[in-house]
Amino acid sequence: MAEPAGGVWAELVGQQRAVATLSAAAKAARQPGGDGSPHAMTHAWLITGPPGSGRSNAARAFAAALLCDQGGCGRCTVCRSAESGAHPDVTLVRTEQLSISVAEVRELAMKAAMSPTVGRFQVIVVEDADRITDQGADALLKALEEPPPRTVWLLCAPTAEDVIVTVRSRTRQVNLRTPLDTEVAQLLVERDGIDPELAAYAARAAQGHIGRARALARSEDARTARQQIMAIPGSLNSVGACLRAAATIVELATAQADRSTGEIDARELAELKEALGYGTKGARPKQATAALKELEDQQKARAKRLQRDALDRVLTELTTWYRDVLTVQLQAVDPASSQLSAEGLGLINTEMHAEIAQAARSATAEQTLRRVDAILAARDALEHSVAPLLAMEALMLNLADPG
Ligand SMILES: [Zn+2]
Repeated sequence: MAEPAGGVWAELVGQQRAVATLSAAAKAARQPGGDGSPHAMTHAWLITGPPGSGRSNAARAFAAALLCDQGGCGRCTVCRSAESGAHPDVTLVRTEQLSISVAEVRELAMKAAMSPTVGRFQVIVVEDADRITDQGADALLKALEEPPPRTVWLLCAPTAEDVIVTVRSRTRQVNLRTPLDTEVAQLLVERDGIDPELAAYAARAAQGHIGRARALARSEDARTARQQIMAIPGSLNSVGACLRAAATIVELATAQADRSTGEIDARELAELKEALGYGTKGARPKQATAALKELEDQQKARAKRLQRDALDRVLTELTTWYRDVLTVQLQAVDPASSQLSAEGLGLINTEMHAEIAQAARSATAEQTLRRVDAILAARDALEHSVAPLLAMEALMLNLADPG
């Protein structure tokens, strides 16, 4: 029953089971009459999986498969517009904010109550369903309790537990797994034309996060930034060095967040000003000032979230270093060998095997574990809104001297 994972499914590497479920559902929904009546279609899905595994890709591919006459060929205008969110019957909810408000959910629920305009279904994709507020979840629940026959909700979240149980119980769940390094590398070679050696490095470094692997494979800057991060553990030999390392990390994360926001911020501001009639004659009305203030607040919240995400990535990278050190200390891996051990273990940072071997000799496994704990604690602190620089300084001092 495994269909070839081509067409809209091609990006979903290592997700044969999920693709089989979704493509079968889309196929059944396309059959005229009987089983394939829109009523037989599950109207709410919850797509879960670790960051970078392709939750949103899966949701958009499914939307295309539901609307395309060929079940998601990936080439027709229906497929392309459904995947990009430009299709009139596909609503893509992407948030850069920390939460999705009840007002936003109510607006979606109103949309959901309407019939599709041109397609068989209308599909509402919520990429970060875990960010829906409790009030918002109540509003969503009401919408799911009275499902219009031709509306399909696709909710995406890291795990099922991230979505409140009342909502979760009304969905059909599809779980994505972390793809293997080899699968990600193959995708980069075949779809992006990346050199195999570079693809293997990027896939290993990204640890199953496809977007991250792609960024590392394509961008010299991203690789340089990663090298800077991986040099940190070996540099923490004084308090001054720790403080400098903390500042470097915050700078790298801020730069990364700025790169992603700068352009969008400017575009949003220009669009809003145009909508408000700026540049034409007349004074700035009160509402205009309020709308601009609201946009500014939203953009600040987004910048904060993106910086936090970027810091989180830095901490993930650092963890790979200590994970490598620990595997050498526990003699699970021979650092001098680029081959996988009998248990299938290998270094993530193979290119730094000499430094890792050295670090493994100069600490105990217990100290390495305490360092990993310190990284987890720092992540927790960030989640509880501790100022980034402060959290990083505390972390660097702990990494230098784990006790
Ligand atoms: Zn198509």
